[in-house]
Amino acid sequence: MKITVSVIKADVGGVGGHTKPSDGLLDAVRRTIKDSTGLLIDHYIGYCGDDTHVVLSHTHGVDSEKIHKLAWDAFMAGTQVAKEEGLYGAGQDLLRDSFSGNVKGMGPGVAEMEFEERPNEAFTVFAADKTEPGAFNYPIYRMFVDALSNTGLIVNKNLADGVKINIMDVEKAQIAELELWQDKPTIEAALMYPGRYVVDSVTTKDGEPILAASTDRLHNIAGTYVGKDDPVCVVRTQKKFPATEEVGSVFNNPHYVAGNTRGSHNMPLMPVRLNSAATINFCIPIVQAMVFSMHNGKFTGPFDGFSTPDWDLIREKATEKAMAIRSQGFIHPATLVPSELEYAEGYRARVNILESKMRPIEEQDTSNVDKKMVYEDPD
Ligand SMILES: [Mg+2]
Repeated sequence: MKITVSVIKADVGGVGGHTKPSDGLLDAVRRTIKDSTGLLIDHYIGYCGDDTHVVLSHTHGVDSEKIHKLAWDAFMAGTQVAKEEGLYGAGQDLLRDSFSGNVKGMGPGVAEMEFEERPNEAFTVFAADKTEPGAFNYPIYRMFVDALSNTGLIVNKNLADGVKINIMDVEKAQIAELELWQDKPTIEAALMYPGRYVVDSVTTKDGEPILAASTDRLHNIAGTYVGKDDPVCVVRTQKKFPATEEVGSVFNNPHYVAGNTRGSHNMPLMPVRLNSAATINFCIPIVQAMVFSMHNGKFTGPFDGFSTPDWDLIREKATEKAMAIRSQGFIHPATLVPSELEYAEGYRARVNILESKMRPIEEQDTSNVDKKMVYEDPD
């Protein structure tokens, strides 16, 4: 049986800031999804920080207008409540007034894949907040390329054969299909700069989907920067795919990602429990793991992947790393480069004043410099 799993998310309002959606907002989203009799097989609704996500199973394929319209309507209903409650950023990720065929390019993030369901279908959905799609570059690399992180890449024949990784250039909106193992250094060069190149999807060599991620960058869609577009991704696990523990453990080294308060800092990605608010301690970037079983499109779960005691230690490490880099305040690399700043206009205004005060340095007299002391390139 061919099933499509669609994960669609949007920030349509937060309580007192960029913290979490309200109960009223979530109820409105839930009601809209529940009213879609017959369209879905199953659904799950939750949130990661200020982002509300819906996980939907159905038989309408990827990019289905009906499914995308349902998600859009649900987020519109949530927005209505967010406005009535005076929530912060009400409707901020809905960039159009009305739906037109596909939520991609309209603000919400989408990760979806259609596949022939296995008898014991298993998949995990990762949702992150206060960061950007490139935040998944490092963990996805550990899943599919780094055998020191994933022994399955050695002992599982399908993984040892290598996978296809589709990498998107989010500046130019182009995509490249790269293949392991021959393209390994090219994949590494791309993943090196998560602000520019991000993993869009991963398939087996014969095209079976393993991973799909949301890759749109809101500031490219909107023309101006409207926020870090917090990513979601869905990964199929077990048997010929990575084990569930191999996709979860790649988040056990909280790496630095772009995001945080005002979308302007490098901070570690902290694994948290399902339906966690963003912390008001600078809003450290967070990631959640929803671990599902599925049969005939019906969900069991999610199990809260980062809820076991060992993840408390990882959270502690993430907090320490966050405090360490944040202790140097605005001095780069604690802050992002100017082109990545969410508040680029404010920064530009300050630099414009600086530039207006700049005067040429008088040409210096170098006639007395001992020419022998001048460094010469040996080439
Ligand atoms: Mg968010």
